[in-house]
Amino acid sequence: MTDKTVTMYWELLNICEDFLDSGYLTEHGRVPAISGLPTLKTGGAGSRAAKLEELHETIRECTKCGLSKGRNRAVPGEGVIEPVVFIIGEGPGADEDKTGRPFVGKAGRYLDKWLDAIGLSRNTNCFIGNIVKCRPPGNRDPLPEESSACSPYLQQQVELLQPKVILSLGRIASQILTERVEGITALREETYRFMDLPLIPTYHPSGVLRNQEYRAPVWDDLKRLKTLLYE
Ligand code: URA
Ligand code: SF4
Repeated sequence: MTDKTVTMYWELLNICEDFLDSGYLTEHGRVPAISGLPTLKTGGAGSRAAKLEELHETIRECTKCGLSKGRNRAVPGEGVIEPVVFIIGEGPGADEDKTGRPFVGKAGRYLDKWLDAIGLSRNTNCFIGNIVKCRPPGNRDPLPEESSACSPYLQQQVELLQPKVILSLGRIASQILTERVEGITALREETYRFMDLPLIPTYHPSGVLRNQEYRAPVWDDLKRLKTLLYE
């Protein structure tokens, strides 16, 4: 290996470390947010925002499945209308159940860093939600009848939000949305379709926090997502 190649690899490793630790930093500072992506269109977005809020009210009072019994708060999701990416997790955890907001615990803070690294955020251009809107007791996987009962809400969200791309986090969300049975390692690296939109599956941030080996593949998936957004 030449010195130049070694330097190149070393720089690449540093970039990965920077991205995972504090967003994608370079010696010139943070990589600017993506520009040239579609922004909020005026026509119809206002009424869709009102319909979305109505839907979220329905979700907050929903008793369509057994998960309603154990929850403190349902977690409809949050972000912007017409997001570039709709990020879909599995279901609320303890912090989310307490606050009524998605991905606000440790995994959520880590997810925010991933998004920040490619110029995305729930405050400006993304929407974050879950397969089931109420917390499964002890964070167990949602049962098929629970995810089926909840899926019309997700479908209505996709219709109202009109995202450009969907990013599914982890095995459960990815299996349900792709209607496939393989594990997440086999599912990722391909682009699927959900409600006629491109869907990219990746690891769940909680899984990546537990297993450092998933860090590099997640970075690859995020880069693929960013490329797709520019197409
Ligand atoms: N994990 C999820 O899948 N969803 C959340 O909202 C929080 C943690
Ligand atoms: Fe309703 Fe979904 Fe909560 Fe079940 S998980 S009670 S279907 S909102």
